[in-house]
Amino acid sequence: MIRMMVGVLVIAAGIGSCGKGPRPDRMPPSPKPLQATETEAGKSIPESSLSKGMAETNSWPKPRTDERITDRCEMVRVIRDLYGVRDEKVLAAMEAVPRHWFVPEGQKANAYDDRPLPIGYEQTISQPLIVAFMTDLLELSADQKVLEIGTGSGYQAAILYEFTSQVYSIEIVRPLAERTIGVLKQHGYDSIRVKIGDGYQGWAEYAPYDAIIVTCAPDHIPPALKQQLRPGGRMVIPVDDSDSGQDLILIRKDADGNFRLESKMPVRFVPMTRERGS
Ligand code: SAH
Repeated sequence: MIRMMVGVLVIAAGIGSCGKGPRPDRMPPSPKPLQATETEAGKSIPESSLSKGMAETNSWPKPRTDERITDRCEMVRVIRDLYGVRDEKVLAAMEAVPRHWFVPEGQKANAYDDRPLPIGYEQTISQPLIVAFMTDLLELSADQKVLEIGTGSGYQAAILYEFTSQVYSIEIVRPLAERTIGVLKQHGYDSIRVKIGDGYQGWAEYAPYDAIIVTCAPDHIPPALKQQLRPGGRMVIPVDDSDSGQDLILIRKDADGNFRLESKMPVRFVPMTRERGS
């Protein structure tokens, strides 16, 4: 209850609790066109032309705390000013979700650093910029259903939960999934559904999905994920080509079930592993 009340305060303050900085329409254009490549501090990433405003109702209770709000504000400032992510709803989500809840004890001090962090079991929580960028590409709205492959720390799932209450996520490493299910429950994300298993197969039971986000890298696009994407849906997935490395790909499925692929930027994710025998 206390947590929710704090949340109301934060929501009331909106993204304004960090201050907005220069308005997006007054910012200089991103120095690079849509195929930006770098992700280090100071380099711009492409501003998604796909982002939409926050018109829809988005009224389910969301966990909140103002702990470490200053750190989150600084993280959001970097994502916005240094990298050029402009979507207000994405920035508000990054401001609202406490990243420090999702990292192991030994990494809490670094939780808002502009880099990926180890989360145990040889896995990592993605760099905040990548989380923001991929979320933006999904164009989620409140009535939509989203599937994540690679729950990891649960942070990306919590960011998705800012956009829709219908979040499904699959993690293959059982002890990591069990720890993360505990963390999600502890902080009030009970309605995010996590399955322990091989995400290569998707989650047919709840398909189709309006959006699919894959946070581990397979060497091809899993056919089941293409099939479980709703016509009109978007999938964002890092695909590993042994010659050229990983490429973040945005896939759109049109009303006739045809796919359009767009390469977004080079990335580095942990590999998608497979269950034996699958
Ligand atoms: N989205 C996560 C990032 C985790 S890193 C976060 O916000 O923290 C990628 C995760 O994908 C790892 O936890 C890894 O165990 C998981 N993974 C790898 N192959 C998988 C598969 N086939 N199915 C489901 N999860 C997988």
